Amino acid sequence: MKFVDEYRTEQEARRYSDAIRALVTKSWTIMEVCGGQTHSIVKFGIDELLPPSLTLVHGPGCPVCVTPLELIEKAIEIASIPNVIFCSFGDMLRVPGISRDLLTVKAAGGDVRIVYSPLDAVKIARDNPQREVVFFAVGFETTAPANAMAAFQARQQGVANFSMLVSHVLVPPAMEAVLSSPENRVQGFLAAGHVCAIMGYTEYEPIALKYRVPIVVTGFEPLDILQGIAMCVRQLEQGRAEVENQYARSVRREGNLTAQKLIREVFRVVPRKWRGVGEIAQSGLGLQEAYAAFDAETRFGVAHLTADEPAECISGLILQGIKKPFECPAFGERCTPEHPLGATMVSSEGACAAYYHYRRRQK
Ligand code: SF4
Repeated sequence: MKFVDEYRTEQEARRYSDAIRALVTKSWTIMEVCGGQTHSIVKFGIDELLPPSLTLVHGPGCPVCVTPLELIEKAIEIASIPNVIFCSFGDMLRVPGISRDLLTVKAAGGDVRIVYSPLDAVKIARDNPQREVVFFAVGFETTAPANAMAAFQARQQGVANFSMLVSHVLVPPAMEAVLSSPENRVQGFLAAGHVCAIMGYTEYEPIALKYRVPIVVTGFEPLDILQGIAMCVRQLEQGRAEVENQYARSVRREGNLTAQKLIREVFRVVPRKWRGVGEIAQSGLGLQEAYAAFDAETRFGVAHLTADEPAECISGLILQGIKKPFECPAFGERCTPEHPLGATMVSSEGACAAYYHYRRRQK
């Protein structure tokens, strides 16, 4: 396949692997932030090409995984209301709440629909003026522009029966939370290329400076990741802590200014709970005052709902790079993709699902 195969050649992968081995003189731990990168690493066995002294740990960059349990409960509550059409991306439907998921609500007769764009939900609202249409707006900075566009268009077009259940999260505060933890072992980051395509990477420069960690903006194909690791290791070995851009074919330092403007028009920065991690200050996006009428939590009176995470699931530790999936006692036994106990086993980007799918039980 043109434009993908050239980032997957074994010969080039071996060349990068040899270059990394030649660079490494000490033990280093590097976190790939994004769940998409985690899947590439496990699927293509990238970590098996690295020297034993180099450890990759998996970060919090899986939007489905970090959506807190209480938001799932709020979604289930709203989707169960008879006049509501609840619209969501597909992988949110199987994320377990306390006793059921959105798919169960659908099976019981709830009008839960999978959409491929938030603008589809606005169209459904226009086509069904007698019904309330709610879109489950989750994700990182990557999905924020499209979700912002949905609210923007609904406001412009006066689509009053449309609202959004918002659970947006931001990458830089999560990286700071990882680095500030007393259990932190991360010494360098591979930042998520698609997030930086929107936001640029100026936000990462003060983090690299403050915590003395190299941050390499990295893509998702095997050779992208190997090159990102090589750049990160080179900085670590040289005692540098800078932001570098491996993914220059997609990312500019300032990012996509038009998308950023739209995000600022619709959203404001708010504190946000992360599943398994807890609340992180200024780590999410909520609707601006001008868009408050589109807030589903207020419209359906579910803002007060809370839920405790199941103690058995250690996904919070996995998302902070402290544990690996195979260290969870439930992994592959009581927790499988067919019967998931936590979101990291459900999501296509979740670390537990990646290890299960590719049968990885160690390293
Ligand atoms: S294997 Fe299941 S229970 Fe264990 S951390 Fe992963 S999602 Fe949670």
